[in-house]
Amino acid sequence: MSDHGFVFSQKPISIAAGEGVHLTSEDGTEYLDFGASYACTPTGHCHPQVVEAIQQQAGELLYVQGSYPVETRTNLETRLAALAPGDLENVWLCNSGTEANEAALKFARSATGGTKIVAAKRAFHGRTAGTLSATWKPKYKKPFEPLLEHVEFVTYGDAEELEAAVDDETAAVILEPIQGEGGIHLPDSGYLETARAVTTATNTALIFDEIQTGLGRTGATWACQHDAVAAGGVTPDILTTAKGLASGLPIGATLCADWIAEGAGPHGSTFSGNPLVCAAANATVDVLVDDDLAGNAAAVGEYIQTELESSNIPLRDVRGEGLMLGLEVKRGANRVLRDLALEHQILALPAGRTVVRLLPPLVLEETHADALLEALSDILAPTAQS
Ligand SMILES: *Cc1c(COP(=O)(O)O)cnc(C)c1O
Repeated sequence: MSDHGFVFSQKPISIAAGEGVHLTSEDGTEYLDFGASYACTPTGHCHPQVVEAIQQQAGELLYVQGSYPVETRTNLETRLAALAPGDLENVWLCNSGTEANEAALKFARSATGGTKIVAAKRAFHGRTAGTLSATWKPKYKKPFEPLLEHVEFVTYGDAEELEAAVDDETAAVILEPIQGEGGIHLPDSGYLETARAVTTATNTALIFDEIQTGLGRTGATWACQHDAVAAGGVTPDILTTAKGLASGLPIGATLCADWIAEGAGPHGSTFSGNPLVCAAANATVDVLVDDDLAGNAAAVGEYIQTELESSNIPLRDVRGEGLMLGLEVKRGANRVLRDLALEHQILALPAGRTVVRLLPPLVLEETHADALLEALSDILAPTAQS
């Protein structure tokens, strides 16, 4: 079937080009991109360093099978191991977030010998049969059931429920350090610490899905190192990353502790660590680190939260860290998003029916934030027609 509407809902704006925090449509209208297509362009659209790295690699080697060492892949593995929290030095590269989580669940099962998976209500971990089993939303799962057995869902943030769910049969506890798709929810203080303690005590693998939260998004390289999320930081046994890692080219990575890697079992994927995407990822990591995009995310995110609090924009709640923010609105999020796009040329995202989600490129500046605040005020403030 060639009709694109088959699996994607179509937006009324066709995009022709991108630069920095802006996208340009085919009719020449410039949009401010507050969604970064789900956090996939942290360095901004077409960052010159990333584009140059891709062009150079394309002229040298597009692809060779993963069992041949290639410098650009080895470099990326080394850098990800260095960037990882704790000693998660074993790197498995793949092509998407869902694949990174699929590998995490497989590795956890084979390394522990357990079968049960504990996941959180409202969680999103992907759409392959395995990761879909650990995803909460019934709408995504119903047509494809039965999926994996032995998955138990617990209330996100409830330490007692988590402790009760984990037993000797449990292979993995999988959690997002801040829930994204589910509506931008931070864990209660001490929750990730409890998850670490209960999994260590039962030889269960603790998996943090940092596909949306990772790589500076929340103001720290990883959300599990963020004080507001886990006091002092919590290191999992497996951490997954994807989305913005190659500035928009398809990639995922599963970072594992030694005991997981040693018991990982056979796994593979044809395009794992292909040189072109690795070149884009190396350049992306360069920009993230050299330009301290985590620091910028922390500063500009804080600015947005402070300005929203002191404004007359009526919001039920503002949640998040850094440039991962959820604005709970009174009327439907989709109406607000439509007005932002069509009246103010600002693109943002939903997270459920009532949350406007902001995941802009991490190069965002305060002046861009001001444009968003003005637009929100125009759409939502009491003087506006409601
Ligand atoms: C997007 C996302 C995934 C799935 O990644 P894909 O690249 O779309 O397969 C998994 N977990 C989280 C937290 C995500 O945000």
